[in-house]
Amino acid sequence: MKVRAQFAFVFNLDKCIGCHTCSVTCKNVWTNRKGVEYAWFNNVESKPGIGYPKQWENQDIWEGGWEKRNGKLELKAGGRASKLVNIFNNPKLPEIDDYYEPFTYDYAHLQTAPLSEAAPTARPLSQIDGSRMEKVTWGPNWEDDLAGEFEKRAADKNFDKIQKQIYAEFENTFHMYLPRICNHCLNPACVAACPSGSVYKREEDGIVLVDQDKCRGWRMCISGCPYKKVFYNWESGKAEKCIGCYPRVESGLPTVCSESCVGRIRYNGIVLYDADRILDTASQDSVQDLYKAQMDIFLDPNDPAVIAQARADGVPDSWIEAAQRSPIYKMAIDWKIAFPMHPEFRTLPMVWYVPPLSPVQSQIDQGALPTGPDGVIPRADALRLPVKYLANLLTAGQEAPIVSALNRLIAMRSYMRSVHVEGQADTR
Ligand code: SF4
Ligand code: SF4
Repeated sequence: MKVRAQFAFVFNLDKCIGCHTCSVTCKNVWTNRKGVEYAWFNNVESKPGIGYPKQWENQDIWEGGWEKRNGKLELKAGGRASKLVNIFNNPKLPEIDDYYEPFTYDYAHLQTAPLSEAAPTARPLSQIDGSRMEKVTWGPNWEDDLAGEFEKRAADKNFDKIQKQIYAEFENTFHMYLPRICNHCLNPACVAACPSGSVYKREEDGIVLVDQDKCRGWRMCISGCPYKKVFYNWESGKAEKCIGCYPRVESGLPTVCSESCVGRIRYNGIVLYDADRILDTASQDSVQDLYKAQMDIFLDPNDPAVIAQARADGVPDSWIEAAQRSPIYKMAIDWKIAFPMHPEFRTLPMVWYVPPLSPVQSQIDQGALPTGPDGVIPRADALRLPVKYLANLLTAGQEAPIVSALNRLIAMRSYMRSVHVEGQADTR
């Protein structure tokens, strides 16, 4: 066992209201510069939706992350060696249209715009050609405005057949927000893909950084990252990414996205993990085993044997104490209500997500989905937000852990309601 400390996050999706305060504060602090106008180290996308950059989850297009080939763990696009051969022809890069182009807002519009029924939004798709969406005037939460609009749009003669089909698909849809930052992965594909060794993982807290002096602008990190969380600065010719707000973290402050979060959805903290198990964990044969192994890689920060080994491995006492105070281990391991996003990418991401309950709660409130006496969901398949969708996002398709987490959240919510709204005694 080799104990290491890692800066990690839990985002509670149940509480995200999609306000973008996190994105804007991050932009103001870190990417308010020429060359990275289009870059959002923190973005909040509507789900289900094509995301930012478009279709980043579709690894058939981008070939990011890791895969097992011939019993070995290799970078998906053919491993570092083949990338080096192909270094001047790196085809797996999102283009500006995949991110959407920034524009200068005309403030005079505030005074002159006519009243409209809905919030101003981008035009919908005009064409789909297989894997890529083309001719789209598009924005980061474009999908928000589709649901419930079908009847009005279907009668609109200006919309073509495909547009009407899209509205039909999105009618009565479910909806959630997904805030995303770099996951500061334990097994980062961006680090492995970099030919000049400029992307590195800090020894003390695992924050993944790009050394700007060493970066040669090859952009293999952008291809390699399956979450598409590295960005190319066209002004400096270097790669840039979320730096985990390390100057703030080193001063004992939370990341700026966490501090400004209106919904208070973001938990920062230190976890202890067994660095000897990274390769074994990432190389599990099946993605289902991989998900379970990811849970096992964390170490209990209150276990005396772990504490002794952490000290022997040079983890400072202040980090061990931080891990003991941190909510991350509790939420991910003790309570099993937080999950890593797309564990099948095999990068061992360190941003974990609590699945959203809100649509479920609204159904309970309407009496459409009664819970049993113990708060258990009687029919997971009756949930408005399909468990399958959450499972594909968070647990490599396994539904049982998601249902269990939602049940815990419902039980906790009904308990807190009984104490704080109905005035019953707090028996904790
Ligand atoms: Fe690297 Fe992407 Fe993981 Fe961030 S999310 S550490 S950029 S592989
Ligand atoms: Fe969601 Fe918080 Fe960001 Fe608002 S600030 S979009 S609530 S994560």
